[in-house]
Amino acid sequence: MVKVGIPRALLYYQYYPMWKTFFGELGAEVVVSPPTTQATLAVGSSRVVADTCLPVKVFCGHVLALVENCDYIFIPALRSVKSKIYNCSKFLGLPDMTRAVIPECPPILDMDIDINKGKRRLYQAIYKLGRPFSWNPFKVRRAALAAWQAHREYKELMINECLTPPQAIARISGAEMPSPNPNQPAIALVGHPYLLYDEMINHRLIHRLEQAGYRTLTPEMLTAEQLETAITRLTGKPYWTYEEEVVGSGGHYLESGVEGAIGVIAFGCGPDSLMMDMVQRQAIRLKTTPFMSLTLEEHSAEAGVVTRLEAFLDMIQRKKRRGAEVCV
Ligand code: SF4
Repeated sequence: MVKVGIPRALLYYQYYPMWKTFFGELGAEVVVSPPTTQATLAVGSSRVVADTCLPVKVFCGHVLALVENCDYIFIPALRSVKSKIYNCSKFLGLPDMTRAVIPECPPILDMDIDINKGKRRLYQAIYKLGRPFSWNPFKVRRAALAAWQAHREYKELMINECLTPPQAIARISGAEMPSPNPNQPAIALVGHPYLLYDEMINHRLIHRLEQAGYRTLTPEMLTAEQLETAITRLTGKPYWTYEEEVVGSGGHYLESGVEGAIGVIAFGCGPDSLMMDMVQRQAIRLKTTPFMSLTLEEHSAEAGVVTRLEAFLDMIQRKKRRGAEVCV
């Protein structure tokens, strides 16, 4: 059976069930790289220039983890999935960058996704992607429809059950995954999924919040309408694809009555520094929800993240006790 590798990084958290269904329907076996470790980051970093952002370094490490184990690696170039809203440039050149820095990589199944070029181009790209597995266009079409259905169900599961992407993926795979307790106090996490759910690079942020007695609310638990309304309120018209995860979810959660909100960004990320600044300014304006911005980088020490988190949770507790005005 042909093996298709999927790196557990970047777009994995948003699209894995869809990709797995597509390749599975075409008779391929999908292999996912193991969770990130310090070694994954170290080998990934060794292939790119130092000022590359942390998530891309991690991505390279995951590709290297798959090199020996699969026949193809799937790396799409996701340019735009909404009209006139564009992705960060790192995603646009991802297949080419991977070929350049990891020459030993197996053949890359790349695919240009740009909704602005029309549906015809998108369908052509899907048929081209399926061709190594089947020359039958009807079979590829069936696989694409099943994949789209899987994606919709995945998104609905996260929204309806308040599950994070890793929890929803585990649930889809048949693992027991209890829904969070809605009576627990909630902290919102704002940021890209590849920062929020990679436990190595965020030093187990969600786990630490759970240990402290909080449930976490994340961008994937919000509907498209909730995200769009918050973006329109804060910035007017969105330009970046990931404005939803940062501005949309940040804007929404700051007014949702959560105990606090934590914005997670990657050091050296241009789009994030602008978008998170908007959320932070909104938090200062509103003065209703404590907000902390946490910047992750390759050398972030676990102790530093833990100290900041403890101080933030202390501030929330003090605010609750005194009912005082919020510090941001
Ligand atoms: S949005 Fe920022 S963190 Fe994400 S890939 Fe682009 S530069 Fe890196």
